[in-house]
Amino acid sequence: MFPEFTLDYAHLAERFYERFDPVPVPSPRLVAFNRPLAEELGFDLAALDERQITDWFAGNAVPPGAEPLAQAYAGHQFGNFVPHLGDGRAVLLGEVTDRDGRLRDIQLKGAGCTPFSRGGDGRSPLGPVLREYLVSEAMHRLGVPSTRALAAVTTGERVFRRVPEPGGILARVAASHLRVGTFQYFAVRSDLEAVQTLADLAIRRHYPDLAELPESERYLALVEAVQARQAALVARWMGLGFIHGVMNTDNTAISGETLDFGPCAFMEAYDPQTFFSSVDEGGRYAYRNQPWIAQWNLARFAETLVPLIDDDTDRAIERATALIQAFPEHYEAEWLAVMRAKLGLVQEEEGDAALVEALLEAMQAGRADFTLTFRRLGDLAASPAAETYLFECFEDPRAIQAWLPRWRERLAREGIAMTDIAARMHATNPAYIPRNHKVEEALAAAAEDDDFGPFEALNEVLAEPFTEQPGREAYALPAEPTEGVFRTFCGT
Ligand code: AMP
Ligand code: MG
Repeated sequence: MFPEFTLDYAHLAERFYERFDPVPVPSPRLVAFNRPLAEELGFDLAALDERQITDWFAGNAVPPGAEPLAQAYAGHQFGNFVPHLGDGRAVLLGEVTDRDGRLRDIQLKGAGCTPFSRGGDGRSPLGPVLREYLVSEAMHRLGVPSTRALAAVTTGERVFRRVPEPGGILARVAASHLRVGTFQYFAVRSDLEAVQTLADLAIRRHYPDLAELPESERYLALVEAVQARQAALVARWMGLGFIHGVMNTDNTAISGETLDFGPCAFMEAYDPQTFFSSVDEGGRYAYRNQPWIAQWNLARFAETLVPLIDDDTDRAIERATALIQAFPEHYEAEWLAVMRAKLGLVQEEEGDAALVEALLEAMQAGRADFTLTFRRLGDLAASPAAETYLFECFEDPRAIQAWLPRWRERLAREGIAMTDIAARMHATNPAYIPRNHKVEEALAAAAEDDDFGPFEALNEVLAEPFTEQPGREAYALPAEPTEGVFRTFCGT
């Protein structure tokens, strides 16, 4: 049986969504199923029938108690406001209560044309489905708040992008799919009642403590709470070299989870200007811009709540602006906490940010792989013999050689054993991330040869990103230098 649905969103007024059943597909096949997550959501694994769950996740059967719907939302896409977006190919089945008593959305992505499809085909090729499966699960294992992947199916249908590709559907789980763009959809229509309904829903589901506050404080406090989660989220992305790639306001989750993994990718050689998405021509969503884009998106969120923040509009704007202007301070603190941990530091010292910056400069000059450098610094804390491996990450090791004594001196003041420092570093600096070439390899094998072996192998490695896995060293290494620049295509 499917776990019991609660139908939280479906109980809102009709203007929040369009009721819509997924469009059946010709011959669905279950190609991935996340058993631990299914268990967390209350599926009875012993009683599951594969044919039945395949039909549910393909949209060929609506699970009992579900009332599928496509959510309405707007969004700033690459800075331009689009008042009418909505789920053009995703369908929310409903919410279930997980083992911890939290409501979780179950959504099918690629489930057919909805009233919001605007000329799109409502479908997704298999590649992007598997990319989101791999990367969202990896993010979760890396300790980053993220939507999750419950299942992936192939549809037996061809989807036409640059070339015909096999179609796929992802069953995605989220704390909720409320986005900044959901609020914008109603704010731009001057539907204040709807904005307040959404704000109260967000508070109930994600920030229940705020419900205790008087109304005059509650909504500004919501902006503050969302800001705190976004600052923490983006700091974690930065600490992993993760580039989301399409930080539009419709892809910014109010819950603080990473949402939508279209053109995302992990940086290899450290360069803060890195971006991967072929549609992001100006590099708006480049690595180094991510915190400031998050701040910009938060400002758009705050704008939607202005009438609720204060009856006096000028005063509301003033209060919201002061709050959003404090974002850099919150972000810098989160970032420094992430980076301190990466360097094995627990105590806080004045010069720590400069120490981190100096390392990053050395990495940029030496075109050092972001993930490998930090992992090998941890190895070095454990054993001086690892120095050679660390230097191998750099085209020219002189800058890192000059930096190491500063770090060692700083570590000495922590006053704990180097083996403990190494253990700490290895618990925060992964050995394995979804390397772009490994992800591409897995996607190509599945889409071109119907071979899911590489996808499964990669998924397995990424389940334990902090543990050295003998025999799987190749997964820890960056791509061989090849001609051209790696680009992701938003042909999702
Ligand atoms: P995304 O780039 O996936 O965040 O999507 C941005 C907007 O485009 C959302 O409204 C999607 O529902 C819509 N969209 C993306 N791909 C398709 C598609 N193949 N068919 C219909 N709508 C789509
Ligand atoms: Mg999206």
